[in-house]
Amino acid sequence: MVSKDIIEEMEKQQYRFVGSHSAVKVCGWTRNMINDKGSCYKHKFYGIQSNKCMQMTTCLSCANRCLFCWRGHKEPVSKEWNGTIDNPEFILTKSLEAHHKLLVGFKGSDKAVKYNESTEVKHVALSLTGEPIIYPKINEFIDLCSQKGISTFLVTNAQYPEHIKSLNRVTQLYLSVDAPTKELLQKIDVPLFADYWKRLLLSLQYLSQKEERTCIRLTVIKNINDTNHKEYANLITQGNPDFIEVKAYMHVGSSRDYLERENMPLHENVVTFSRELAKHLPDYELMSEHIPSRVVLFAKKKFLKDDGWHTWIDFTNPKNLVKTPVTGISGKGTLD
Ligand code: SF4
Repeated sequence: MVSKDIIEEMEKQQYRFVGSHSAVKVCGWTRNMINDKGSCYKHKFYGIQSNKCMQMTTCLSCANRCLFCWRGHKEPVSKEWNGTIDNPEFILTKSLEAHHKLLVGFKGSDKAVKYNESTEVKHVALSLTGEPIIYPKINEFIDLCSQKGISTFLVTNAQYPEHIKSLNRVTQLYLSVDAPTKELLQKIDVPLFADYWKRLLLSLQYLSQKEERTCIRLTVIKNINDTNHKEYANLITQGNPDFIEVKAYMHVGSSRDYLERENMPLHENVVTFSRELAKHLPDYELMSEHIPSRVVLFAKKKFLKDDGWHTWIDFTNPKNLVKTPVTGISGKGTLD
């Protein structure tokens, strides 16, 4: 499924391949939290412990070539699954081994105060690269994580609606909506599927029927897709997610071949865009932000209780939420 050249190139970037179609890579926020230097926005928004998180994918192949993707267009593209299907138990075991091996350098360091905690993975982020949802045994993989007490966030690009429909319960399911109109989606995602817009609309419909918590992710690219708030709101309303994350495009990695530095919004640009979007989404409220990641969180108003917002996962029963310690939007503090 993946050529030797691509494997070599990605290994240099600290990816580790597992079996024939999976990979892990340690997230920078995992390293930061091990060194007690802050945690990711999913910690602030949902309580994910970044030092106990493993970032991985069960499928390196993708059906889009998004302009803003930092991971590189050398990775394989395909509409359908092809090749070997590795066993879920094998993928999870070997991924955990590879993840821990990548972190072993922290062992014994005085600065790595949260290293010992990191030796037990409690969260899997299926969002590293590619399209994890098309792995034919994804449901068995998710169930396996859940049996082992590992929460799962899965991100999909909205090109495989039937896979969304048949997906077993994850802790939180993400759908990327990269543009507000059909024409812009073609330009930004460069999809392989000719019926990409129909696939997006059907994905939104199936997302709205899921029982677990759901989230729509917008990646804002300044001067390219930061318009058409009403059209975005219309798509979001169709998907009816619990959360909306609006995140700035970051001018890093391979995306620099396709976009300019000026296309990277400041945090305040993300907040301005989100405040405008909020005017069209009466069921949601802008409730949190993570300035280093230039991201804001909208939550459905039903998560606002008498004692404040409840968006943190209760890890004793991940179906439930508990009080979010820190909320609010300043819209300031841009690191640039
Ligand atoms: S949840 Fe995402 S951002 Fe946070 S540590 Fe895991 S991979 Fe990184």
